[in-house]
Amino acid sequence: MSKKSAPKKTSATKTPAKKTATQKTTVKKGTAAAGIKKSKLSTPNPPYFYFGGGKADGHAGMKDVLGGKGAGLAEMSKVGVPVPPGFTITTEVCTLFYENGMKIPDDIDNELSKAMGHIEKITGKKFGDPANPLLVSVRSGAKFSMPGMMDTVLNLGLNKETLEGFAKLSGDERFACDSYRRFVQMFGNVVLGIDKETFEEVIEAKKQARKIKHDSSLQVEDLNDIIKKYKHIIKKKTGEDFPDDPYQQLRMSRDAVFRSWNNPRAISYRKLNNIPGNLGTAVNVQAMVFGNMGNNSGTGVGFTRNPATGEKEFYGEYLLNAQGEDVVAGIRTPQPIKDLKNDMPVVFDQLRKITSQLEKHYRDVQDFEFTVENGKLYMLQTRTGKRTVQAALKIAVDMVKEKLITKEEALMRIEPSALDQLLHPRLDPAAKYEVIAKGLPASPGAASGVVYFTSEEAVEAATAGKGKKVILVRQETNPDDIEGMHASVGILTSRGGMTSHAAVVARGMGKCCVAGCEAARVRVDKKQLQIGKLIIKEGEVITLNGSTGEVIIGDVATIEPELSGEFAALMEWADEIRHLRVRTNADTPHDAIQARKYGAEGIGLCRTEHMFFSEERLPIVQEMILADSPEERMNALDKLLPFQKEDFKGIFEAMDGLPVTIRTLDPPLHEFLPEKGEIEKRIKELDKADEEYDEKLNRLKKTLLRIEELKEVNPMLGHRGCRLGVVYPEITEMQARAIIEAACEVNKAGKKAIPEIMIPLVGHVNELRNQREVVERIVNETKAKYNARKLTYSIGTMIEIPRAALTANEIATEAEFFSFGTNDLTQMSMGFSRDDAGKFLRYYVDKGILPKDPFISLDQEGVGQLVQMGTDRGRATKPDLKVGICGEHGGDPDSIAFCHKVGLNYVSCSPFRVPIARLAAAQATIMEKQKTSERDK
Ligand SMILES: [Mg+2]
Repeated sequence: MSKKSAPKKTSATKTPAKKTATQKTTVKKGTAAAGIKKSKLSTPNPPYFYFGGGKADGHAGMKDVLGGKGAGLAEMSKVGVPVPPGFTITTEVCTLFYENGMKIPDDIDNELSKAMGHIEKITGKKFGDPANPLLVSVRSGAKFSMPGMMDTVLNLGLNKETLEGFAKLSGDERFACDSYRRFVQMFGNVVLGIDKETFEEVIEAKKQARKIKHDSSLQVEDLNDIIKKYKHIIKKKTGEDFPDDPYQQLRMSRDAVFRSWNNPRAISYRKLNNIPGNLGTAVNVQAMVFGNMGNNSGTGVGFTRNPATGEKEFYGEYLLNAQGEDVVAGIRTPQPIKDLKNDMPVVFDQLRKITSQLEKHYRDVQDFEFTVENGKLYMLQTRTGKRTVQAALKIAVDMVKEKLITKEEALMRIEPSALDQLLHPRLDPAAKYEVIAKGLPASPGAASGVVYFTSEEAVEAATAGKGKKVILVRQETNPDDIEGMHASVGILTSRGGMTSHAAVVARGMGKCCVAGCEAARVRVDKKQLQIGKLIIKEGEVITLNGSTGEVIIGDVATIEPELSGEFAALMEWADEIRHLRVRTNADTPHDAIQARKYGAEGIGLCRTEHMFFSEERLPIVQEMILADSPEERMNALDKLLPFQKEDFKGIFEAMDGLPVTIRTLDPPLHEFLPEKGEIEKRIKELDKADEEYDEKLNRLKKTLLRIEELKEVNPMLGHRGCRLGVVYPEITEMQARAIIEAACEVNKAGKKAIPEIMIPLVGHVNELRNQREVVERIVNETKAKYNARKLTYSIGTMIEIPRAALTANEIATEAEFFSFGTNDLTQMSMGFSRDDAGKFLRYYVDKGILPKDPFISLDQEGVGQLVQMGTDRGRATKPDLKVGICGEHGGDPDSIAFCHKVGLNYVSCSPFRVPIARLAAAQATIMEKQKTSERDK
């Protein structure tokens, strides 16, 4: 085994290849580039690493250099697993290939025959020897497996001369010819880039001419004729003869692997998955073993545990007398792996032993490939098995019980956002159904129901004794539809994107939603939905799959979500470890109860305005807005008070003993008034004969006037948030009274309410001081009225205006808590209106101008500084200041890790994201611990 063939180190190896333009868009490029640099400096770089014969130069920890496949082969060989011998050409050679003008440097290329010598020595065969030919496979293998990389080339080394020897050795001329036929076809397709179909057509034509059905019926002369035609096609398409020299075949295949690193599919996959473009791929060259040498041979694939359910069972399939691609291509139906016990009992036992040894060694489920050649077992590949979320949970928890991994490792093995799939109803996988259209998968989950086209009709059908399951179908939704959405089990819109009103609200409510389904024509006037020629009328049943965007005709059975035994166990471990508390954003007792089931430790944001939109309340809210005098306004507010109080009581009862943060009125008032055109229409429709005509007309005219008055150029920066309470203190008074009365009454009834009153949109300490005085006055009055001296409550503010973060030391003098409203903070820091940014944000992310949508994942470098500063300055004034976050970011794992780092007390997210946040918070703690212990080493 020669290792001294290291090439001269060129300084160019330290810079990434020019062609790898995608790295600019990836987040981790800095660390990855640094990693490559480091290994260049600290380790010798032989271009070839050997494995097989029970030994290996490399090991599993060398994925950067050997790729996943190469590192796996090295590790297997090292622990004594029988693998066909071979070598790996490193990813560093790939980098050199690109820097050297798409060519391997000569000194490395010259070592190729020495590398082949390693395989020749172990197998006793010789590459290109007509009497005893060695055949090899060539495979790509990057650090991360990705689609689009070069397919495998098998049987490399065959030509006219070696074919004869191979036929003699195998004792089967037909098999030898077919192996050659496969090789020429794969080489032509994979290395030379000629369409697969071109070759398939030749076979088909031959089969038709010979009137046979299966490839296996083709005879030697047929195969020879096919090979001749293949070579003719290759000459015609490339202008070159098919290479006979085995070394030329090998070099061309190797270079094709390196070239495939930068094919468009691989590039786009890397982009989507944040894989740096400068990693490069390795090439694995390995002796061929044949699973098609008769019934004492075979090939198969498997998992050490069931990848769908996580059950601890040997899982997989195999084919006797076949090559690997026969299993994958599905030409023949493979047998379940347990049958191998009958076909080859010795091999079966050996395989079980080796694979469970591999699972123990890697401490994770293995996905393996094997081949049996004349009764001898070879492991071709083993890697960490991909699995469903359900399986991942079960496997992680089982492995802790089996003492294979620690609780912390189990927690790190689950992708927090993947839990989303388990927290919504799913379509029964056994059900059959017909998809009639596809939109955007805007909010996960699945539901069947009868369609209704207006919010009012949806509410009516869902309630009032009818109790139907309703799917609300709209062109798009707006705040008026909240009640209809609440009453429905799913929402379908024909317009709008992933951040449309329907999508955002549905996600918050945990309802499934298919948005932007352009094929759907929604006719509210005709009460029908048209998709192509299909017409679905009000009251007819459809099913939505919000996880895929599918719209399905009729009813489909669904499976309800549950925190299964494993899920609950994992959550418990997360709770033991995490420091961050997890609260929920909830506006109704229903949501509060749901969130508590999922482990919420309080409410971080209760939006009072959502309570104003119901049929009986909206007119009172409008009356308040239209009021000419404070008295009139008070009058309307008095009517609203009992409603609000009832809402708060319900929420306090649901959250018994846990803190509830209630935000005072936030949106601009015009949101509660109808559209101008609507009023004008109503004026036109007034009946002059009506006795109350004058009165009605005056009222409508007044509304019109008020709409005009409330009209703002930029409502987002207009009269909203605490600015409403400053100008109309009676609104804050009513809300404070409703909150404290509700708390007093709930406490009297034996439960414990812990209200936290939150003033929104504060930018100057005086705004908060002003509102605090109002709230405190009402609290004291109410406490006296209920004789509730011991009531615990606190007053705080949202930090959502940059100035508030900058002056947090002053603001903290008037606040017991801060809650970062990172939606508004992002809007105002970046100058992006969330409602308008959809037009260009996707472009920004596609082009890599922004790494991520800042409304989904917190912009840590920019907006994050304000969060850090606000926290630090606030606590400088008040060391025990409670600090949380309640924007959409509170449910995003990366943002949660940031909140942990900054030292927040809690995150708050929608009910269905609570388990995700619990896990993400635990992972943040574990990662911090790992970093600290690395530093201490
Ligand atoms: Mg806000």
